[in-house]
Amino acid sequence: MSFIAKLTLVFIIVLASISYSFAQSNNATRSITNIAGDLYRFQNNFHYSVFLVTKEGVIVTDPINADAAKWLKDEIKTRFNKPIRYLVLSHDHADHSAGGEVFAQVGATVVSHENTKAVIKGEKRPTAIPDLTFKKQMTLSLGGKTVELIYPGKGHSNNSIVMLFKDSRTLFVVDTITVNRLPYQGLSDAYFPDWIDYIRKVERLDFDILAPGHGALGVKDDARKHGDYLQAVYDAVLSGVRQGKPLDELKRSIRLSAYENWGQYDPWLPLNIEGIYKNISLHRRGN
Ligand SMILES: [Zn+2]
Repeated sequence: MSFIAKLTLVFIIVLASISYSFAQSNNATRSITNIAGDLYRFQNNFHYSVFLVTKEGVIVTDPINADAAKWLKDEIKTRFNKPIRYLVLSHDHADHSAGGEVFAQVGATVVSHENTKAVIKGEKRPTAIPDLTFKKQMTLSLGGKTVELIYPGKGHSNNSIVMLFKDSRTLFVVDTITVNRLPYQGLSDAYFPDWIDYIRKVERLDFDILAPGHGALGVKDDARKHGDYLQAVYDAVLSGVRQGKPLDELKRSIRLSAYENWGQYDPWLPLNIEGIYKNISLHRRGN
């Protein structure tokens, strides 16, 4: 092959790979996988929700966005041919709650914590306004199956609930607990140390499988590990603040070697420190 021919071939390969990656970026990665029994996990890129199929219909959870919800609605119709009876929102944040109207339009009753509804209305979130709200706990029963909706208190937001799918012994929890991965970046909208108390309450619930809104599935002990991580960062930042250390120094000096192999340790630990630092600074009163 001549030099020009080789160069042309390389050029074509480069062009082809550019157009391939462009096509990929326009297509969300979506999947449905079985968790246990009749409970399924729905993936849309880096976001996950779950849905439960019963003989009387389906309970879906976070729609993620309108396109994702339309895809899921069609897949449920094709695979199970059952009506979608309930949509339960984990919390108000738009990257999980958006697109709820897709399920509301086909007759699903939209359920959330009462604070979720207030924030959805206040922030004009692009989703359906909940029909049914609760304060502490609500039991949803459909087709002989039960889902406990529980609000353990403030934590990742002021309205994050957990959903306990009793038949499959699975807990769906969003943004509050991840499996061997740090919580997201700067912890905006979060409450400390309430978030740690929230996880300690979750640890007392009766389940085996932990299904988070991001990342890999886990087990119950992953909740304890996540609580221990948050406690460790919180303690380190509080101690530093009490010694009068500035934020920059804390971001440089705090290392938590037990978590070095967790996902996003290097990029997100300084951001987690900053989030907790701001939280502590707002609420602390020194001498
Ligand atoms: Zn969130």
